[in-house]
Amino acid sequence: MTKPLPKADFSSFTFSTNILAAIKKFGYEHPTDIQLEAIPTILDGKDVLARAETGSGKTAAFVLPLLENLSTQNIYRQSKSYNHFNGTDRAGNNCVQVLVLVPTRELAIQVCDVFKQMSENIQPELKCLSVYGGVKINPQMMALRSGTDILVTTPGRLLDLASQNAIKFNQIKALVIDEVDRLMKGDFQDEINRIIKLLPNKRQNLMFTATFPDNIRLLVRKEMNNPEVINMDEFLEEVPIEQRVITVNHNKKNDLLAHLLSENNWKQVLIFCSAKRTCDNLVIKLEKRGIKALAMHGNKEQSARSAVLKDFKSGKSRILIATDVASRGIDIEQLACVINYDLPRSPNDYVHRIGRTGRAGQTGQAISLIAHHEYHHFTVIEKRNSLRLEREQLEGFQPDEVAPPMPRSKPKKKASPKNKQNKLKKNTNKVQSVDNSEPDTQEESIVNAHIWGKRK
Ligand code: AMP
Repeated sequence: MTKPLPKADFSSFTFSTNILAAIKKFGYEHPTDIQLEAIPTILDGKDVLARAETGSGKTAAFVLPLLENLSTQNIYRQSKSYNHFNGTDRAGNNCVQVLVLVPTRELAIQVCDVFKQMSENIQPELKCLSVYGGVKINPQMMALRSGTDILVTTPGRLLDLASQNAIKFNQIKALVIDEVDRLMKGDFQDEINRIIKLLPNKRQNLMFTATFPDNIRLLVRKEMNNPEVINMDEFLEEVPIEQRVITVNHNKKNDLLAHLLSENNWKQVLIFCSAKRTCDNLVIKLEKRGIKALAMHGNKEQSARSAVLKDFKSGKSRILIATDVASRGIDIEQLACVINYDLPRSPNDYVHRIGRTGRAGQTGQAISLIAHHEYHHFTVIEKRNSLRLEREQLEGFQPDEVAPPMPRSKPKKKASPKNKQNKLKKNTNKVQSVDNSEPDTQEESIVNAHIWGKRK
């Protein structure tokens, strides 16, 4: 089943022929809903605040009009707001024209690729660069020296580069913040506020978010200039994802997973675990059952993460086991199935995880395997996302009425009488977890703490 796309055509926008040619080469026939709404507004140089998930076509919704504006410069020449830019067409040394902030390295690379591919016919060339942490900073400083028209970056690395005077912000014309809801949490929030202070006041602001928490409303009020608000809710509801919940004993999850992977003819499957160690263990356990899988998480080197993702995206590998580093932004075409081996800690992440499937109008399946200790948490996820899903049991994997004992990962130290009381207090709030290894992101632990009441 394919989601019906609007009938409008890309030629109805005022795109130059070189951009229309790139769109054709990409195989896009009709603009998606968000593209229909956002493109004309961005072409006009106005601010846009869009509620949009990955999978809606949001990347092209900002890439295409920004490339058009940069290549012709018409919008900037007409507007007094951009007088400070001196009318030159390409970024000067160490300067940037369009700054795109994203939460992860993978997304930075992916968005930069779309800019590069869509701008391949534009002359003189528009330079696009992605920079992110976890790799050496010197090559990035060198690459920035001659200026870059579009810079796609994670916030921390941008601040590092700025502190080393590797980047100048005086030629910024547009700021894009992708996945604002994720970037306005934890340490990211402070970084975003610090970055915004470095930018010229007069600029176009484009923000994309899946949710509108209060701090985003505040950011919008403070930083945006009467934005066009594009609400995608009604379109998101149409995304055809079949959600299944299978109850199982925690010690039977591996068997059930292996059974599902063997019985179903899924072309590719993305499996989410809550901890890095679980990902690695699961790869080994599946391998023992003759099922080959790759793992991706924050402990892996960037080069290893990129290689694993490349293999998965190209279809070379069938099964990817990942922590929530892969739950947002990553675009894997025609992903048939997402499996929650462990539940995400945050109800929001459930939506992001399952959003990896059912993309660009394709149908998809999202299966959550829940053991006794996760029953309650799944009802919280359902409640927060206004869902009510039927619990399934599979023949041969039915859960016992009473949970089997959980494995102990570490021998317990004898607690001092003083600590004993504190520990008791903590444990009443703590969700019992089979694997106690650390979560993949700081954000994850904050959300976890928040949900389970450890933080005020
Ligand atoms: P995004 O929401 O930007 O992550 O895009 C999700 C997927 O939709 C990507 O694979 C895009 O290449 C694809 N896409 C974006 N725009 C269109 C379009 N107009 N027609 C068909 N596919 C599209």
